[in-house]
Amino acid sequence: MAITETDAVIIGAGPCGLFAVFELGMLNAQCHLIDILDKPGGQCAELYPDKPIYDIPAIPSLTGKELTDNLLEQTAPFNPVFHLNTRADALEAMDDGRWKLTTSTGDEFITRAVVIAAGGGSFNPRKLPLAEAGRYVDGKGLSYAVRDAQAFSGKRVVIAGGGDSAVDWAVALTGRAAHVTLVHRRSEFRAAPATLAKLQSLMEAGQIDVQVGTILALHGEDHLQSVELNTPAGAIQLPCDELLAFYGLVASLEEVSSFGLTMRNGRVAVDTSNFETSLPGVYAIGDITDYPGKLKLILSGFHEAALMAHHAIQRIHPQARNTFQHSTTAMQLRLGKEKTTC
Ligand SMILES: Cc1cc2nc3c(=O)[nH]c(=O)nc-3n(C[C@H](O)[C@H](O)[C@H](O)COP(=O)(O)OP(=O)(O)OC[C@H]3O[C@@H](n4cnc5c(N)ncnc54)[C@H](O)[C@@H]3O)c2cc1C
Repeated sequence: MAITETDAVIIGAGPCGLFAVFELGMLNAQCHLIDILDKPGGQCAELYPDKPIYDIPAIPSLTGKELTDNLLEQTAPFNPVFHLNTRADALEAMDDGRWKLTTSTGDEFITRAVVIAAGGGSFNPRKLPLAEAGRYVDGKGLSYAVRDAQAFSGKRVVIAGGGDSAVDWAVALTGRAAHVTLVHRRSEFRAAPATLAKLQSLMEAGQIDVQVGTILALHGEDHLQSVELNTPAGAIQLPCDELLAFYGLVASLEEVSSFGLTMRNGRVAVDTSNFETSLPGVYAIGDITDYPGKLKLILSGFHEAALMAHHAIQRIHPQARNTFQHSTTAMQLRLGKEKTTC
């Protein structure tokens, strides 16, 4: 368990959480970001990486992945620290006015400013709907994410699902695993064209088996040994050391709801002059907020991040003289560049 003291902790590394790093960074605040996903970008990276977005001001069109990559580049000068595959679980007020945030890894963050940019909630994998599934998690053969690809070396791997994650990992683990079988209820898959082409060539080379079917049951005493499938040709058993199930994600607001914040229509109520919640020093921005006229748009979240940062910095650095500066000036100072004269 690690204890980290920092200026601001941001829950959620979606577009609004990432832009909050920029706005706070311009005001000289160091940020740690926590996200349950294995990559930054929130909905843009997880739900629509290849779809074009047309309403980011002054950028006629860019995909969800390009927006995420651009935000990461824009925030890089401020050295944000990412804690991925990590859920923000509990928030506790400390006697000195700071907050203690505890995560699913048992780590603690002590901070003056917490920014909740949790979108629709923490993304969790949809579980395999079988009574026995729970027996095989935690290192006994069933996983819903890849934490360490090496754990699949030399194993007979079955991957269930038809989307990007299933196809990406089927391709990535081929060669490392002893054998890979991709199981999906249809023969069509939804993934990036280049990955689909790779899957096709691995299938033709006999390096990946694709099986149309659904999982009926899991078998094995202490560890998973085989997966029973319902296929168009009837029930079959696949020998299996590791099953990876990628059935999509469901969003949960359980953790944020437990923080003791005033909620409005199931979302976090905020003061729209500074995006502070009902708890002093706890802010909320992006899709997680609700206020009169709220639009769930990325550009709204960017505006909210700017107002949040200018209020939060007064708590983070109360002694500092916080004068408003445009990025044209502030970034030159931060990056150590010479001021341009006109
Ligand atoms: C298909 C689709 C198309 C869209 N197109 C557009 C568009 O064209 N223009 C537009 O403006 N908007 C669009 N949107 C909406 C836009 O994506 C959202 O408004 C935006 O992603 C909200 O950003 P956010 O940072 O508030 O939240 P999110 O992007 O949802 O990110 C929140 C992050 O917080 C994490 N999180 C939540 N709770 C926890 C916790 N307790 N611990 C750890 N991590 C947590 C989640 O895992 C997630 O990664 C679209 C949405 C979809 C689904």
